[in-house]
Order: sequence, then C-alpha cells, then structure tokens
Amino acid sequence: MVWLFDYDLTLYGFDEGEVLWSLDRNITRFLEVRMGMTLAEADATRREYCSKYGTTLGGLRVLHGVQPHDYFDFIHAGEQLKKPEFSAAKIALLNSLPGERYVFTNARRDWAERGLESMGITSCFRGVFDIETFAWNSKPAPQVYAQVETLVGASGANIIFLDDKPENLQPARELGWKTVLVHPEAATMDIPCDLKLKHLLDLDAQAISALCRG
Ligand SMILES: [Mg+2]
Repeated sequence: MVWLFDYDLTLYGFDEGEVLWSLDRNITRFLEVRMGMTLAEADATRREYCSKYGTTLGGLRVLHGVQPHDYFDFIHAGEQLKKPEFSAAKIALLNSLPGERYVFTNARRDWAERGLESMGITSCFRGVFDIETFAWNSKPAPQVYAQVETLVGASGANIIFLDDKPENLQPARELGWKTVLVHPEAATMDIPCDLKLKHLLDLDAQAISALCRG
C-alpha cells in the first residue's frame, strides 16, 4: 500500500492554519512588491489565481511569465513564517500505517520539509513529491497524478491519498485511488470519497484497516 499526504492543512490541521496564512501573507506581499498591486488587488488576485490555476504561481506563470524559483525564494523568506508544532501523536500514527508514505504537495519542497522537520515526522516519509517534481504543474492537473503512479510504482486501489481540497481528490478517484478528505467540515461536505476526517489525528486503526482492505 502507498500512502500519499498533502502537506498544507492535511499533515497539519486548520487548528494550525496560521502556518498557511503566514505564507499567504508573503504571497500577497510578492504581488504587491513584484507586480505593483495594491494590498486589496493582491489579496483578490491570490484567491483568483488559486481557484483558476490551482496555485497562485500557476496564474503568475501563465499570465506574467514569473519564474518559479524567484517566486518561492521570495515567499519562503522571513522570520514571520510560522511552523506546525512537534507532534508525538503524528509520529506514532504515521509509523503505524502499513506500506510506504510520501508527501504530495503543491508547495516547493523546502516549505514542506521545514514543516515535517518541525513536527518531527521527516523520517516517517520515503520522499516528498513537490511542484518542481512535476515541472511546476500541480494538483488537480490529471497528468501529475499519472506521474505519481510511475514514481511510486503503484496504481489504482493500491494508493491511498489524503487532501483537504475536494478538487484535488477528484482526479485521484478517476484513477481508482482511495481518497480521504481531511477537513473540519468534512462530515457536511457533499464530496465523493472513501473516508472523511475532521483532522489527520482522527485516522484510527479501524479506518486504516478498512482503507487497506477495501
Ligand atoms: Mg492542502
């Protein structure tokens, strides 16, 4: 079995959302400083690009020719960036999962690795697939899921994928992967998936064996 985990708001939850919001403020700052937008324009543009292109970078590349490393070097800098807390419970949970574990993120590697280190879970994973792995293409573009299958040497129901964004689960479902929505409102969201969790730490032994069996 191969387990794939999104990083932001999946491996750490909305209870630690300040981690992502601190990065979002840097993204907004990039749009102000490098693209000459007002704060209001920058904030609206960040949201618009994320929903239309999957990531802010997606829109910046297509519409403005922004170089990915230039963008990530800018947004990953600064003392104000927050990290998720160390979690012995996550170490125990991740190590209890049968099979191989990888991170599958739309971020650049250094952002996710910094957070894994902070949580103490770096060694729980065999590797990190980041946006650079896919030549700066990102979830939910179907081709990146096909590439992941090649990279992990598994396919279909042998892959279990956890993400907080319903739109990222859809292409995985189409490939027959088992999908887990991790979101505080998951129970009331009308999303087709194999399991809904409020928080990663709600993944219990019964759910794990059902996912592996099913
Ligand atoms: Mg996420």
